[in-house]
This record gives sequence, C-alpha cells and structure tokens, in this order.
Amino acid sequence: MKEIVYQENIYPGTRAELVARLREVLSDHRFQHVLGVEQAAIKLAEQNGCSVEKASVAALLHDYTKERSAEDFIAAIKAYHLDPDLLRWGNFIWHGVVGAEMVKTELHVTDEEILNAIRRHTVGAVTMTTLDKIVYVADYIEAGRSFPGVEQARKLAATDLDQAVSFETKHTIQFLMEQNKPVYPQAILTYNRWVAGKNRRIYE
Ligand code: GDP
Ligand code: FE
Ligand code: FE
Repeated sequence: MKEIVYQENIYPGTRAELVARLREVLSDHRFQHVLGVEQAAIKLAEQNGCSVEKASVAALLHDYTKERSAEDFIAAIKAYHLDPDLLRWGNFIWHGVVGAEMVKTELHVTDEEILNAIRRHTVGAVTMTTLDKIVYVADYIEAGRSFPGVEQARKLAATDLDQAVSFETKHTIQFLMEQNKPVYPQAILTYNRWVAGKNRRIYE
C-alpha cells in the first residue's frame, strides 16, 4: 500500500488525520472501499501525470457524505442555494454535488479541482479534467469491486484513461436502463460526449 505524505496543504492536516475522520463517518465496508479507491487513484495519477496528493485527497473524500441522511442533504441544498431540481433526486446524486459543498465547509478543503472531482465522480461530465477521470474510474475499478466487466475496465484504465471513462459510462447507463432506473440527465450528457461517436464538435 502506498501512503502519501501530504505536502501541498490541500487537506489541512495529515493523511492519517483525514483517514481517522473518514473512519468516524463511514461504515467499515465503505471505509475499505474509499481506501481501495485511493490506491487505484494514486496508480492512475502516476500513469497519467497527475498530482498523487490530489488523487489521494480527492479519492479519500469522494464518498465522504455517502451515509448522510436525506434530511441533511435537503437542508444543505437549501442552505447552499443549490439547484432546487436536486430535491427530486436522491443520495446517489447528492453525495457528489452536495457532498462537495459539505467537504468544503466541514473539512476546509477549498481546492476547486478536488471539489469538482467529488462533484463529478458519480455521473461524470462533458468536460473532465485528468483528476476527474481518475476519481471516476478509480471508484469503478478499485480492488474491492467485483462485477461482470470490471476486469476489462481495469485493463482499459491501465492503458487508456479516456477509454475507461467511456466504458464505465456506457456500462453504468446500460445497467440502469436494464433495471428501468431513472438516468440523471447529466449522465446522458456524459454518455453523448464520451460514448456516442465521440461527437466532440457539439460539446467543445
Ligand atoms: P459509490 O458511491 O461508490 O457506490 O459509487 P457511485 O458514486 O459511482 O454511484 C452511486 C450509485 O449511483 C451506484 O449504485 C450507481 O450505479 C448509481 N448511479 C449512477 N448514475 C446513476 C443514474 O444516472 N441514475 C441512477 N438511478 N443511479 C445512478
Ligand atoms: Fe460515490
Ligand atoms: Fe465510491
């Protein structure tokens, strides 16, 4: 396991302090998931010329609010004056976009690259930075994940991060549709950019 020594003051404390905080707010299962995402993200950062410290902090924080109550999120959406349309969705969307605001105020992490990676980690975005892609993909391929296709996703991630983004986006939406689940509109935009014929002209 690779343990990064924080030097850039992105998180105002040590990595051990951040990990201790996560242990308090996450179930053991999710805590282990987050550590797995961190390891995967560090590896992807090294392979893709991204800051490993940013990858570590963003990965550790990506699900910081995943176990909050709906009441907490609803109050936060109102308090931060976020788009009221969010109220129609649930935890799976809130823990990214609303979670980033909670990370900012509760943990004093103000780096917008980190906050954006948290915001975008569930449904991606039309425009994604390398850090966004790293957290999005690391979340999907971390060592604790096992689902049909995860090995292929790991192989793609090792050779081409963009192809891994494309694979993940397609398979997540396919999976949701097979179960007649609602697809968040932003996820469709991500699909159009990263899967559907790589139709860059329209979006860039
Ligand atoms: P996790 O927080 O580590 O479990 O992973 P994610 O943040 O990537 O996803 C959270 C959950 O939301 C997963 O169960 C996804 O399958 C689900 N999810 C992602 N996008 C959508 C969507 O557009 N609609 C619905 N209904 N679920 C989604
Ligand atoms: Fe998540
Ligand atoms: Fe996650």
